Amino acid sequence: MNVLVINCGSSSLKYQLIDSESEAVLAKGLCERIGIDGRLVYQKTGLDKEITEAPMPTHKQAIELVINALVNDKTGAIKDLSEIDAVGHRLVHGGEKFACSVVISDEVLQAVEECNDLAPLHNPANLIGVAACQEVMPNVPMVGVFDTAFHQTMPKKAYLYGLPYEYYEKYKVRRYGFHGTSHSFVSKRLAEYLGLDYQNSKLIVAHLGNGASISAVQNGKCIDTSMGLTPLEGLVMGTRSGDIDPAIMEFIAKKENLDIEGVMNVLNKKSGVQGLSRLSSDFRDLEDGHANGNEMATNAIEVFCYRVAKYIGAYVAAMNGVDAIAFTAGIGENGPLVRQKVMEYLGYLGIAVNEETNGVHGDEAVISTADSKVKVCVIPTNEELAIARETVALVK
Ligand code: ADP
Repeated sequence: MNVLVINCGSSSLKYQLIDSESEAVLAKGLCERIGIDGRLVYQKTGLDKEITEAPMPTHKQAIELVINALVNDKTGAIKDLSEIDAVGHRLVHGGEKFACSVVISDEVLQAVEECNDLAPLHNPANLIGVAACQEVMPNVPMVGVFDTAFHQTMPKKAYLYGLPYEYYEKYKVRRYGFHGTSHSFVSKRLAEYLGLDYQNSKLIVAHLGNGASISAVQNGKCIDTSMGLTPLEGLVMGTRSGDIDPAIMEFIAKKENLDIEGVMNVLNKKSGVQGLSRLSSDFRDLEDGHANGNEMATNAIEVFCYRVAKYIGAYVAAMNGVDAIAFTAGIGENGPLVRQKVMEYLGYLGIAVNEETNGVHGDEAVISTADSKVKVCVIPTNEELAIARETVALVK
């Protein structure tokens, strides 16, 4: 089966065409600046990237351009539209309604729309992507895979905030968690890679990218994760603050003369390692800065790693132990310095860094020493493949 995986934002749309038998990526790319002017990036596996400036007033035109590229005589990956057997959509917020992936129907779309309030920037854009695909491919089955679904197994004690209970009852204010597709994929692969029984294991996954989150997965179920009602909670991220004293919001609002939108903008876009370092949100720049004696870059890296280590400690407590820990996503897969610094906090778990294997970039590896009591690994994430697998499982 060929599955087209779609990750649709308000002005961009990422896609991958995956052959589900071989799990090979046949082609991939993205549409950018939808509704502004429009740029299509397309790459058939094995060939060079093609970049085409092309008008994309709406997402429908963007999808049409993607399909045209996929079936193009010269560089297309398939002959015609009939070779796309299913579409898998990344959907950000499924609220409490979706604990697993679903075949998209009118009822499902309605239920997703009811969650829009919880993810006003992402869900409406995701739904526009679904509608555009349905218009262009009316007879192709579509599946929705939610970022929040994997975390729906969290117990009440983990997902409730210490707020008036009526906010949960009236508005569903609670912790949901994100990056669920990645946490699910990586935790399963971690167990498999180490020969552990997934259904009888205590695992921690640190998804460290621009957005970053950690989850505790006990016996194959997520029991806690660091992101909350929104992706702002938890770790210090590229530009997001993560956990702060909520009273800081009023304090800064008064000092800087900001309204609530202004404060939220600071917490989402001007904080994290970017705000701390005054240099960059990108860890490659921070590592260069650190290597060249930039103290602000070093501080930002230290704050980031300390927060990760504290969350790992919290999740060891939550599960009363841990069998293995995985690092994944951009920084987790490519950042030996961050991994080493985090692991240095974990000596109490009988963890020691294998300095040779910790040099790995983007490959699976055990990066703790052979005699470490708890194994620490790098496990590359692959959210598109996870979405393709879920899609096949539901439409077959
Ligand atoms: P997102 O999907 O949230 O945008 P990614 O998972 O792509 O994020 O991760 C982006 C982060 O990964 C950036 O901070 C980037 O600097 C970091 N990263 C990517 N490659 C490397 C590398 N070789 N060394 C260190 N950090 C890296």
